[in-house]
Amino acid sequence: MDKKQDLYSWLEIRGVSRREFIKYCAATAAVLGLSELEFTTRVAQALETAAKKPPVIWLEGQDCAGCTISFTGALNPPAASIILDKLSIRYHETIMAAAGHLAESVYHNTVKKGGYVLVVEGSIPSADDRFCMVGGRPFRKIVEEAAEKAAAIIAVGACAAYGGIPAAGPTRGIGLHKALPGKAVINLSTCPVHTDHLVGTILYFLATGKGPPLDDIGRPKAYFEQSIHDNCRRRSYFDEDTFLKDWNDPTQKDFCLYEKGCKGPDIYSDCAIRRWNDGINFCIDCGAGCQGCADPDFYAGMTPLYTAESERSQNIMARKKAGLIPKKEKV
Ligand code: SF4
Ligand code: SF4
Repeated sequence: MDKKQDLYSWLEIRGVSRREFIKYCAATAAVLGLSELEFTTRVAQALETAAKKPPVIWLEGQDCAGCTISFTGALNPPAASIILDKLSIRYHETIMAAAGHLAESVYHNTVKKGGYVLVVEGSIPSADDRFCMVGGRPFRKIVEEAAEKAAAIIAVGACAAYGGIPAAGPTRGIGLHKALPGKAVINLSTCPVHTDHLVGTILYFLATGKGPPLDDIGRPKAYFEQSIHDNCRRRSYFDEDTFLKDWNDPTQKDFCLYEKGCKGPDIYSDCAIRRWNDGINFCIDCGAGCQGCADPDFYAGMTPLYTAESERSQNIMARKKAGLIPKKEKV
């Protein structure tokens, strides 16, 4: 049995057919602007060749483990979860079986060798190191140490990317780009991270040996260049100034959520197309406005969340009135 056959047998034992694997890789390649055949071949080669498969270290700082839950909950397409399973996750505080000195020695050995993908979840306190200590050491120092020999650094979730909710609290949490000045960090900034964004970014790295093209705030363009507002099914109501005022009135249920705090016109992420929970739904189609969790200003800059009183919301309306948010053509 050749190595590729081994990979496909391994996938099939876990309920993923060869066809599903290729389909998932092809869809990911298409989004990331890569050749489908070349991408799939290189990913398969990397997954079947231990030497080409970089280990992963996943650190958690000031977090709620929501990104870990998002990542471990990737069930469908199963290819995503199986691909992640095939990666060598050496250290992850929440899901690893090892504990204590054994876990620490795995971490230190991996860091010593270098060449791993470093994934960080949660922010780093800037007010005082003592707000986040792991194993008696400041989390900030652990991140600096782990970043030193990492082949790629990925900030998962709003907190690791830009500080998120802890940035608004007494710890004054900061994201990796501030904690690691001069280091190349890939920001996957929604709250929590979208599994497709994480799998796609790691696969891109496996296939090309480098990170995907990023926007000016460090996020993969492929996932973050589209506006929520441009893909929202409530858009025609925004254009006609028909805003939902009462959540309890069923006749208003499809109206635009701007007055209920939606920041969609200012937020760039593919949530409205990719959707969440295995493509089932996303915030606005559930009846809640976009709170801008993909944006560096989240959380403090988006509050209050459920009214249009924030500076951000006021600015959106001022731009609308000035004709700077043109109506979308109906198709
Ligand atoms: S403001 Fe929000 S709910 Fe209204 S159209 Fe834009 S994205 Fe959709
Ligand atoms: S729609 Fe807005 S609040 Fe919801 S996940 Fe996407 S960026 Fe975050």
